Amino acid sequence: MGQVVDAPVRKRGAKKPSAESAAVFIPENPTYEKLRKAALGCTACPLWKSGTQTVFGEGPVKAKIILVGEQPGDEEDLEGHPFVGPAGKVLDKALEEAGIVRGECYVTNAVKHFKWEPSGKRRIHKTPNAREVAACRPWLDAEIALLKPKVVVCLGATAAQALLGRNFKVTERHGELIETNSGFHVMATVHPSAILRMPDDEARHRERERFTEDLRKLKKLI
Ligand code: SF4
Repeated sequence: MGQVVDAPVRKRGAKKPSAESAAVFIPENPTYEKLRKAALGCTACPLWKSGTQTVFGEGPVKAKIILVGEQPGDEEDLEGHPFVGPAGKVLDKALEEAGIVRGECYVTNAVKHFKWEPSGKRRIHKTPNAREVAACRPWLDAEIALLKPKVVVCLGATAAQALLGRNFKVTERHGELIETNSGFHVMATVHPSAILRMPDDEARHRERERFTEDLRKLKKLI
């Protein structure tokens, strides 16, 4: 186990929410449905204009594992569901190999709208900036507060740095189970889309193995 970190979940009302924070959209006494519906109307950062729709987290509210990606991809943006594109398929396979039932996990993203730039007819993923991640953070905090998971898994640097600080390096600390003071652990690992971007089959295979190995460590917590 790694060191204890401060709970990622901020106390509601501790800081006056600004117009640039999704906190102003969080409903009172939130349930999953209330949160999901409220998030559909979020305009706390400019990404609501570029994305087709808000892609909120999905999965059982009793899930012990929350998997957090960076942002929805092209397919997720069009379909309105997280991790349904190619990266989602990599995730599904790795979870299966790790002995974890995907349907028992809650999947979401640090940023709920798709950020992209045009390249011919294609929409190319663009990494959300720190301001956009911070603006969207109240949704993730609300999801964590509602589900009370055993472990939150950050898939890739954006999610890891949102929850574990900007200096956190996934390459150096992937697979480490980090205890928080809110009764759950946080673990960071690679984003499945990074596996797809590997230059050759050998590198892809090696990264898949490492990813699956990280996910296997979750079993001792659930
Ligand atoms: S990315 Fe997040 S904060 Fe920005 S508009 Fe979408 S839901 Fe709101």
